[in-house]
Amino acid sequence: MKIQCDVCEKAPATMICCADEAALCAKCDIEVHAANKLASKHQRIHLQSLSNKLPRCDICQDKTAFIFCVEDRALFCEDCDESIHLPGSLSANHQRFLATGIQVAMKSNCAKDDEKNSLGTT
Ligand SMILES: [Zn+2]
Ligand SMILES: [Zn+2]
Ligand SMILES: [Zn+2]
Ligand SMILES: [Zn+2]
Repeated sequence: MKIQCDVCEKAPATMICCADEAALCAKCDIEVHAANKLASKHQRIHLQSLSNKLPRCDICQDKTAFIFCVEDRALFCEDCDESIHLPGSLSANHQRFLATGIQVAMKSNCAKDDEKNSLGTT
């Protein structure tokens, strides 16, 4: 499993939209955010740019871990996730989520714009 696009649930996601709190593939990003002017202002973060804030893969200890497996209680990079959770194998049924570090990194990245808006109240 790659990080799947929340919209089409088929393609691997390449970015996260702060406003939608959704992972999007390049194609859906264009479709969703070209729909209207408000959506086109959504701040988006490339998953690549989050890499340095995220933990390492528990298996190869080398690549960035994007995926957390509930059954294994381990963090996986995309490559190790694919090789361990092979389609058709027992482990393919493991429940996997986006690593929580992504959510954290996402929030800290997305906060920048809000700061500007919330200044001036004091
Ligand atoms: Zn998509
Ligand atoms: Zn959006
Ligand atoms: Zn790995
Ligand atoms: Zn697993």
